[in-house]
Amino acid sequence: MHAIGVDIGGTKIAAGVVDGEGRILAQIRRDTDASDADSVDAGVVEVVRELSAAYEVGAIGLAAPGFVSSDQSTVLLCPNLPWRDHPLRERVAAGLGTGVPIVVENDANAAGWAEFRFGVGRDVEDMLLLTIGTGLGGALVVGGRLVRGAYGVAAEVGHMRVVPDGHLCGCGLHGCWEQYASGRALVRSARTAAANLPESAVRMIELSGGGKIKGPAITTAAQEGDPLAVSLLAELGRWIGEGSASVAALLDPALVVIGGGVGAAGDLLLEPTRAAFLGALSARGFRPEARIELAAMGNDAGIVGAADLARLGPQDAVG
Ligand SMILES: [Zn+2]
Repeated sequence: MHAIGVDIGGTKIAAGVVDGEGRILAQIRRDTDASDADSVDAGVVEVVRELSAAYEVGAIGLAAPGFVSSDQSTVLLCPNLPWRDHPLRERVAAGLGTGVPIVVENDANAAGWAEFRFGVGRDVEDMLLLTIGTGLGGALVVGGRLVRGAYGVAAEVGHMRVVPDGHLCGCGLHGCWEQYASGRALVRSARTAAANLPESAVRMIELSGGGKIKGPAITTAAQEGDPLAVSLLAELGRWIGEGSASVAALLDPALVVIGGGVGAAGDLLLEPTRAAFLGALSARGFRPEARIELAAMGNDAGIVGAADLARLGPQDAVG
């Protein structure tokens, strides 16, 4: 059975028809107006209709960038879209009028499920995915099942507190992991370093076009051997690794998967992450150690994971 996966972002929708092996058979994209909730609903209906015209599909999965209710119908809160208690499943079902089953899933959960089923996690049963973009999202697979929690909002690892009275987070609390292990944190550290010691940051500023330092410029400068850029990525890796060790204390995963834009830094990020993880792991030497690897599914993970979760059914997703 084929299923459609729709990855809903702040500024665009990407959708695809996915087969039972996780292969995308057809794919389309639409820009959306993030300030208009109705236009996002309409955009989702439109892409699903277009794909359904060419393929017979048995289920539809919608990956949304926010908190999703445990019955997988409603987006409770979405930071980048005007969705508050938004009945997404109902709206899309009404727009389509076909009766094909629809499930709504958190986008990081969808991406994590795709890595677990078809990507770097396909040979493990217990896995943590960290999506490190602007923020820090997470997904957990425990015993081959996606962990949603009692109310649908589990695995929000980015909001575990790692620094008492630390940086203010978008969630309203201070010292969340996301404030230290994310693209935004990396850029903040780079700009602070550049303000304090401008001559150390010449190359990163140059690569950013002369203005404020941007994330990709840090990676490029580090790949060229720029010492400040290398140390900034090492610091980011330290935060990722130490936080992952805390998760390992709780859940003992076999694999930690690093997804998102910072993955472009490769070993410049992975090596310090692994070192910090092992350094912070409790009872080291007396337990097997989780592997830490880059995600394999790229930008298509949300589409593939949402489709696969929809195809398997809302409550019984077992790999
Ligand atoms: Zn937070």
